[in-house]
Amino acid sequence: MNERTRIVLKSGKDQSLRRFHPWVFSGAIKKINGPAQEGVVVDVYDNNDEFLAMGHYQDGSIAIRVLSFDPVEVDQQFWDEKIGSAWKLREKLGLVSDPGTNVFRWVNAEGDGLPGLIIDYYNGAVVIQMHSIGMYRNLESIKESLLKSGGERIHTIYNKSESTLPDKPGITDRSGFLLGNQETGEVLENGFRFNVNWMQGQKTGFFIDQRENRKLVGKWSGGRRVLNMFGYTGGFSVYGLGGDAALVHSVDSSGKAIDLTRQHVEMNFPEENRHEAFAVDAFNFIKEIKNKYDLIILDPPAFAKHQNVLSNALQGYKRLNQKALEQIAPGGILFTFSCSQAVSRENFRKSVFVAAANARRKVRILYQLSQPPDHPVSIFHLEGEYLKGLVLEVE
Ligand code: SAH
Repeated sequence: MNERTRIVLKSGKDQSLRRFHPWVFSGAIKKINGPAQEGVVVDVYDNNDEFLAMGHYQDGSIAIRVLSFDPVEVDQQFWDEKIGSAWKLREKLGLVSDPGTNVFRWVNAEGDGLPGLIIDYYNGAVVIQMHSIGMYRNLESIKESLLKSGGERIHTIYNKSESTLPDKPGITDRSGFLLGNQETGEVLENGFRFNVNWMQGQKTGFFIDQRENRKLVGKWSGGRRVLNMFGYTGGFSVYGLGGDAALVHSVDSSGKAIDLTRQHVEMNFPEENRHEAFAVDAFNFIKEIKNKYDLIILDPPAFAKHQNVLSNALQGYKRLNQKALEQIAPGGILFTFSCSQAVSRENFRKSVFVAAANARRKVRILYQLSQPPDHPVSIFHLEGEYLKGLVLEVE
C-alpha cells in the first residue's frame, strides 16, 4: 500500500468518527503529516495515534469525507465493491426488475458509503453528480464500475457536476458524456411515462425521491379537486389524474416546468380536459383559492440551503402552510413537504403546527413521509434524511 498522508485530530475531536459519522470538519484537525492535495485519500488518527478512518481530503469546512473505517486501499476493486453493492440493494428493493419503474437512485452519497457521489439511473442513462474533488479524481474508475454492474442496461453515462463541484483550480470537464450522447430519454415510474432531460433539467433531471409519495397522492385523489403547487415536471399531477381526481391544477413559476407538465399529462392522458397548468407565483396563487381544492400538494424548493438561514426558512414553511390550511376545503387533505437538509423533521412539524394553530383549523396527521429506500440514510448520518412530508386531514 502507498504511504498515505496522516491527519491527526485534536484531542476530544474523535468522538463523531467513533460513532461512524462520515465527515471530519476542518476545525477538528490538529496536524497534517504529508502532502494534502485536494481529493487525495488520507488516513485519520486520534491524538494517541489510533487509526480511526480514511477518506477524501478537501480544503473546506468538511475536510474529510470518510470512505471506510478500515484502512483499505482505494483501487478499482474498492469502487467495484461499493458501486456493485449499491446496485445489489436496488435489486433487493425490486427496482431493477420492476416492469413499471425504470428510474431510481443508484448511489445516494453517505447512504451508500460514498460521500460526495450521487448517481441516478434513467432507463439506461446514468447521470453522475459529484460534490467532492475526491470523487472527481476517480471518475474513470467510477465509470468502469458502473459498466461492470449495469452492463447491458447502460447506454449513456453523463457527468453533470457543473453546479455541484466546488470552484477550484484544475477542475475542468465538470460536465460531459462518458458514454453515448443521448440528451433526453423516456422513463417509466409506477407505470406513468415521463420525459427526462438530464442535461437541462433540475438536479439530475427528475425528482426521483417523490416516487412513493406520488403514489400516495394517486391513492387519495379519487373525486377530489387537486392543486399541485411547485409542480416542476408535474409528477404529482399525473398521479392525481391517474387516481381519478375530479380536476388537477398545476402551478409553477417556471414556464419551462409548466410546458413539461403539459407534455407529461398529454403523454399519459391524451386529450385530457381535467387538467390546467399555470405559470405563476405560488405565493400569489394561493391567496385566492378559498374552498376551491380538496387536496393540495406543497412541494417547494429548499427554503434553507444552510443552517444560518434556518429561522427564515421555518417562517417560510409556516406562512405557506398557513395559507394552504386557511384555504383548503373542509375535509381536505394537505400533502406538505420540506426538502431542506438544514430543517429537521421536528422543526418542520413545528412550523406546520404553528400554521395550523394560526389558521384555526382542526388538523390531524395521517402519514409522516420521507424519501424512498433507493435514497437510503446511514443511521450514523441523519443529515441524509432531507425529505420530510406530512399528510394532513383538515376538518
Ligand atoms: N414537486 C416537484 C419538485 C418541485 S421542485 C416534483 O415532484 O418533481 C420546486 C419547483 O418550485 C421548481 O420547479 C421551481 O420552478 C418552483 N418554484 C420555485 N419558486 C416558486 C414560486 N415562488 N412559485 C411557484 N413555483 C416556484
